[in-house]
Amino acid sequence: VRALTWQGREQVRVEDVPDPRIEEPTDAVIRVTSTAVCGSDLHLYSVLGAFLQPGDVLGHEAMGVVEEVGAEAGTRLRVGDRVVVPFGIACGTCHMCALGLQSQCETTQVRSTGKGAALFGYTSLYGSVPGGQAQYLRVPQAQYGPVVVPDDGRPDETYLYLSDVLPTAWQAVEYADVPPGGTVVVVGLGPVGQMAARIALHRGAERVIGVDIVAERLLMASRHGVDVIDAARTDDVVAAVRDRTHGRGADAVVEAVGMEAHGSPLAAAGQRAAAFLPDTLARPLIEKAAVDRMAALHTAIAVARRGATVSVVGVYGGALDPIPMMDVFDRQLTLRFGQANVRRWYDDLLPLVTDPADPLAVADLRTHRVPLEQAPQAYDVFQRKADGCIKVVLDPAA
Ligand code: NAD
Ligand code: ZN
Ligand code: ZN
Repeated sequence: VRALTWQGREQVRVEDVPDPRIEEPTDAVIRVTSTAVCGSDLHLYSVLGAFLQPGDVLGHEAMGVVEEVGAEAGTRLRVGDRVVVPFGIACGTCHMCALGLQSQCETTQVRSTGKGAALFGYTSLYGSVPGGQAQYLRVPQAQYGPVVVPDDGRPDETYLYLSDVLPTAWQAVEYADVPPGGTVVVVGLGPVGQMAARIALHRGAERVIGVDIVAERLLMASRHGVDVIDAARTDDVVAAVRDRTHGRGADAVVEAVGMEAHGSPLAAAGQRAAAFLPDTLARPLIEKAAVDRMAALHTAIAVARRGATVSVVGVYGGALDPIPMMDVFDRQLTLRFGQANVRRWYDDLLPLVTDPADPLAVADLRTHRVPLEQAPQAYDVFQRKADGCIKVVLDPAA
């Protein structure tokens, strides 16, 4: 089957890979009908390159049709079901899953790596499970993970974001502890930030202020009731937020940028140099650049009022990424981190995406839908935020 594989820093290619097949009774195989590219893929594409192997199949936001089910998965899924696949792989029954911490699932984590639950398309960092930017996907723990959605003729994009963007954004807002009538700042208006902003408004925040540096993304957020600040054209983002919050800062903050933060010359130089170096030399450079990639996290902390919660959903992967501990301690902030417990939020989200009134406006997020074969160009456009690109969906059947 055809799949998008990583070949080297900022090099991906669509090629033939072995057919996914049932390996465990809890597996299913799905024929992918839509699979999105995520800000997290950009980390693998570029900064985390030192941890990848050429040939790794990327992608963790997939939906499709069940082709084959193992004996144990067959109790929940039938061949022909239309399903969305959570990006994190969880068993649903272990101690962590029972606590609602599916991203820490003890059944799928690879203990030797010291990391949480396995993820699709996250290579050896998270369990070496081939990803969903492919024609077919093997889904482990299918007795629990995939969610059947109505085969109602609505486009995949109605349901696709249940794989990651929506539960991630929902958890980001949940963990931000927004007080009634409070103001939330969302730093980063990529797909995750867009949805976090809409969810915060939907759940009753008085005001949502969005910060980004890309015009189209600021525009999309304004369209959905977000008050925006263009960080590229504002000298002092913190002052701009304080001006709108009685001088105090925001009651709650969601950080939805992560280590791909732009406007960081050191990070850019580090990455450029790293592209020409063997991994052993590149790693320390990447770690150094990581310091500068923290710009958005520092913004998120700085715009918070005293006693606020900063909910960090952006991924920071460098071993040396520093947190301003003294500041966090002195200002009594709560920082929350972690992968989404995807499955946990479906009771909240399913009614919203199936509501014909589309309260979260999921129909307004994807800007590009292209054949899987054009995935390399899509990665490039998404990374450069060129051509008004906000969310790319790949179509393996096109
Ligand atoms: P994205 O890369 O499209 O979005 C990042 C946004 O941040 C872009 O709009 C960019 O213009 C903006 N930005 C860059 N530098 C900035 C700065 N200095 N100040 C303000 N804005 C800045 O990605 P996305 O798909 O929306 O994902 C966002 C983050 O969330 C990524 O780090 C991704 O890895 C992470 N993520 C985490 C989880 C989770 O489970 N925790 C799940 C999905 C995505
Ligand atoms: Zn994702
Ligand atoms: Zn589990």
